[in-house]
Amino acid sequence: MSDTIFHKIIRREIPADIVHEDEHVIAFRDIAPQAPVHVLFVPKTDIATLNDVKPDQAEIIGRLAVAAANYAKTQGFAEDGYRIVMNCNDHGGQTVFQIHLHLLAGAQLGHFGT
Ligand code: C5P
Repeated sequence: MSDTIFHKIIRREIPADIVHEDEHVIAFRDIAPQAPVHVLFVPKTDIATLNDVKPDQAEIIGRLAVAAANYAKTQGFAEDGYRIVMNCNDHGGQTVFQIHLHLLAGAQLGHFGT
């Protein structure tokens, strides 16, 4: 297994505010939230960036998205809406090299770009 900070969270070597965990996915609150709700959904399979997802691993991305949507539904903000984002490499702003989906919600989010 790789050794990013998210792997350490998965192994419970460092603390995190975990809100969901199943066989394939762990989700925890971002330590530097960019919205009232900011949760990260991380697969337990080692994949550094979206570029590294192999065709037979496409299901892993689907699991992250479904886990995020289920969280939105159970927390009651699915109807109001939310945003999911995955950053890739330098220009995308990726800082932790284990893929993860950001779930942002709880306020009217602005349009984004550069
Ligand atoms: O997409 P990116 O790689 O930039 O996202 C990494 C995210 O991980 C950041 O939003 C950062 O605040 C978060 N983080 C965290 N807990 C840590 C280290 C980073 O929630 N211990």
